[in-house]
Amino acid sequence: MARLKSKWICRECGYESSGYLGKCPDCSGWSTLIEEIPAKHNPITFHNSLNYSTPQLLKDVSLDAKVRYTTGMAELDAVLGGGLVKGSLVLVGGDPGIGKSTLTLQTCGKLAQKGLKSLYISAEESEKQVKLRANRLNIDFDNLYIQPETNIEDIKRGIDAISPEVVIIDSIQAVYTPGITSSPGSVSQVRECCSALMALAKTSGVTMVIIGHVTKDGMIAGPKVLEHMVDTVLYFEGDRYKSYRLLRSIKNRFGGTNDIGVFKMEDSGLAEVKNPSMLFLSERGNTAIPGSVVIASSEGTRPLLVEIQALVGPTSYPSPRRVATGIEYNRVLQILAVLEKRVGLNLSKQDVYVNAVGGIDIQEPSADLGIALAVATCARNVRVAPDTVIIGEVGLSGEVRTISHLVARINEAKKLGFKKALIPQSNLPVKNPPENIEIVGVLRLIDAISNAVQDS
Ligand SMILES: [Zn+2]
Repeated sequence: MARLKSKWICRECGYESSGYLGKCPDCSGWSTLIEEIPAKHNPITFHNSLNYSTPQLLKDVSLDAKVRYTTGMAELDAVLGGGLVKGSLVLVGGDPGIGKSTLTLQTCGKLAQKGLKSLYISAEESEKQVKLRANRLNIDFDNLYIQPETNIEDIKRGIDAISPEVVIIDSIQAVYTPGITSSPGSVSQVRECCSALMALAKTSGVTMVIIGHVTKDGMIAGPKVLEHMVDTVLYFEGDRYKSYRLLRSIKNRFGGTNDIGVFKMEDSGLAEVKNPSMLFLSERGNTAIPGSVVIASSEGTRPLLVEIQALVGPTSYPSPRRVATGIEYNRVLQILAVLEKRVGLNLSKQDVYVNAVGGIDIQEPSADLGIALAVATCARNVRVAPDTVIIGEVGLSGEVRTISHLVARINEAKKLGFKKALIPQSNLPVKNPPENIEIVGVLRLIDAISNAVQDS
């Protein structure tokens, strides 16, 4: 038999090459390509000829809602677009130790309360460890089955034996198929097992939730290599040393994307946070400080108030330092360039640190104006009134550009007691503006600075 030719596969993004490359051409990761011997053919087939789909006329396709299992955790249901869809496969990615197992175990508990049977495949922990955690979380596990198993064939047998509605795989990187020689966690193993589980979900109607660790460590493939194969991709984010967690949907065949759910990690498990803006602003005092402003970001359709802090000071390095935490680095550089050129702020001998408080990642441009004001007020040692919220994108000519979901953002600010909103002029007039909050439109960044700065 001819020897199977090995491939080099990037464990970060799944890029394939016939030879070794130091740098992945796709994701630019260094030393991420790993040699693997690909499977000659798909060694697992769960296809049952009775369950094969048949072609139908598009006009006959029913638009009725999918069968969904609501979990009763409103934050999770919203991110899923209304609950877990029957027969779908959801990938939950996140750093190790962030609380993915806690989230899924709690979800099983909620499903159990509704009389739904779930099976927890624990590929990394023993059944005793899982029971101890379930006890600690005080969840209802009357309808929860556990199977510590790593072999995919035996997982399939377990599913056949009890026919659960929902199956959790914790984690996909520890599951393997004997049909492939490479070790568990390799790109081929992870992909092969995922596609088998996907096929099983589609043919049997079981809902699969698979956990994938984001890892920088050696030979383990990350959840990114699976994103294109699954129905829904959720990422569980947060700083493991802080208590809150964000659940972000980045792909969803059955709902919107970029929506977020906010949770707080407590001793008794994850608690939902109904008013995340309040949480993010909780450590902020009422006195104005140079370099501190509040922005109204919008994550998906959900407004979120976040404090942006900047620190500007003389540098002691040959080239000044630029540090951005929670905000895209290049975005910060661009805003600094606009401040220098269009506002006349000289930052060439200044170190600049910009931080989105609370460890949240701000991913949309409406934070620009807030970032610019934080830097400008710190550099000039002036203040923005603490009850002013700053909303707007900044263009390269120093113009303040239109943003979306404006009313939702202003409403969120008003709810938290803000008295003034600085918004792009081009967003005026605001339709149905909320009352008792002053709305001020600005055309250019330089006007925004003079308008927002508190007289003192
Ligand atoms: Zn790559």
